[in-house]
Amino acid sequence: MIKVVDLHKRFRHLHVLKGVSTAVTPGEVVCVIGPSGSGKSTFLRCLNLLEKPSAGHIYIEGVDVTDHSKVNVNEVRAEVGMVFQRFNLFPHKTAFENITLAPLKVRGLPLEEAKSRAYELLDRVGLRHKADVYPDNLSGGQQQRIAIARALAMRPKVMLFDEPTSALDPEMIQEVLDVMKNLAREGMTMVVVTHEMGFAREVAHRALFMDEGQIIEEGTPDELFNHPKSERTQQFLSKIL
Ligand code: ADP
Ligand code: MG
Repeated sequence: MIKVVDLHKRFRHLHVLKGVSTAVTPGEVVCVIGPSGSGKSTFLRCLNLLEKPSAGHIYIEGVDVTDHSKVNVNEVRAEVGMVFQRFNLFPHKTAFENITLAPLKVRGLPLEEAKSRAYELLDRVGLRHKADVYPDNLSGGQQQRIAIARALAMRPKVMLFDEPTSALDPEMIQEVLDVMKNLAREGMTMVVVTHEMGFAREVAHRALFMDEGQIIEEGTPDELFNHPKSERTQQFLSKIL
């Protein structure tokens, strides 16, 4: 589904991603952990071309999305959905409008179809009763569930999550993780930056540890969390577990 080959990202003199290579198979859930500043967000942002890779290749279903002659950036972003740490719903649109906007504008979906899809997604995240509510009047957890529904409305092939629960009050974390767990069970391919070890152990097929712009170690959650090989992984885990 995704293949990343020797990906580099530089911001002027700052070399943030230093040769990241990995692959994600269809239906696989991959968790990415690592210290702040190690390049996790930049890695995800490169995957859906929110950042332009400086070198290397990213293939989504065999298509090299770093090949500018072949790729429509908006199409890639529609196929690779993303949910951010900070709720980034459109503040002047209701939950329902947030979900229908891109399918109508970008995909050109007929109104009736966009509407029925939106209601289906609102049901899926348990928020049909909030359809006409503005983001300000939703809790953080509800906003994140709407953000997930909004990304799903484009029928993405892959979903990227960048610390989706780290800005939430503790009591709201589980409702967001539950939506993500259901998505994983339904077979969605997912790359999730998170330090929620319970989620990673239960849901992830594979975990990656990133440090200083490189993947230092990867394995099953059990291998990575319980039997880390690299000293850097051990040190990091000892701080967060
Ligand atoms: P993480 O998500 O692991 O905390 P980031 O990918 O956000 O790490 O950041 C990695 C490094 O890249 C940091 O040093 C950060 O300051 C830098 N960085 C991220 N985005 C930009 C940008 N748009 N311009 C310049 N530097 C950036
Ligand atoms: Mg980050």
